[in-house]
Amino acid sequence: MNRPKLELPGGNDGRLLLHSCCAPCSGELMEAISASGIDYSIFFYNPNIHPEKEYLLRKEENIRFAEKNNIPFIDADYDTDNWFARAKGMEWAPERGERCTMCFDMRFERTALYAFEHGFSVMTSSLGISRWKNMQQINDCGKRSAALYPGITYWDYNWRKGGGSARMIEISKREQFYQQEYCGCIYSLRDTNRHRKSQGRDIIRLGVQYYGAAETALPSPAENLPAQE
Ligand code: SF4
Repeated sequence: MNRPKLELPGGNDGRLLLHSCCAPCSGELMEAISASGIDYSIFFYNPNIHPEKEYLLRKEENIRFAEKNNIPFIDADYDTDNWFARAKGMEWAPERGERCTMCFDMRFERTALYAFEHGFSVMTSSLGISRWKNMQQINDCGKRSAALYPGITYWDYNWRKGGGSARMIEISKREQFYQQEYCGCIYSLRDTNRHRKSQGRDIIRLGVQYYGAAETALPSPAENLPAQE
């Protein structure tokens, strides 16, 4: 694939910690970063993914692709109790609202701490490549977390540009990644299923859909939301 050579922000020549939310979103980032010769590791910290069966499915897909590419994979805690404690009172917040800000903050705070304690100078995330997410919201959270620790920079590269979004789908199909149909938390699962029911459609069946298995229109993880450019 034809890609521009990437450089870490500010001429930084240190190591990069890539927070990954799942294999489909991080596949393009991994290939782009590897192609640029940047030294990096994957940090999988996503206590927002429920139920556990879905969490394990997404994690295993990410491990499979990391091993295939010889990229170190750091498997962090699945501390859902803390996630639910922080989400208290935001159970009915809409996607891209305050609950999501909390969710990004929590994941990035942990990523920044790990980066600081383990000699990484730059962190970034696969979350922003999804067109169903608000990139500004994600970047704000990333920068806020990085600022908690001296010497850590959040890389707000726009992974969608230059064909990144299309390559994300291409790689997902090629690798036949598990294709999640909701963002991750039980509240997003609830809301996506409510939306589907309102349209007379079946609710989500976990562990069934894989990219490239059928050439049908691909449902989005947040199909009741308009895509963001
Ligand atoms: S909808 Fe997604 S980003 Fe928002 S709180 Fe749930 S899992 Fe986190």
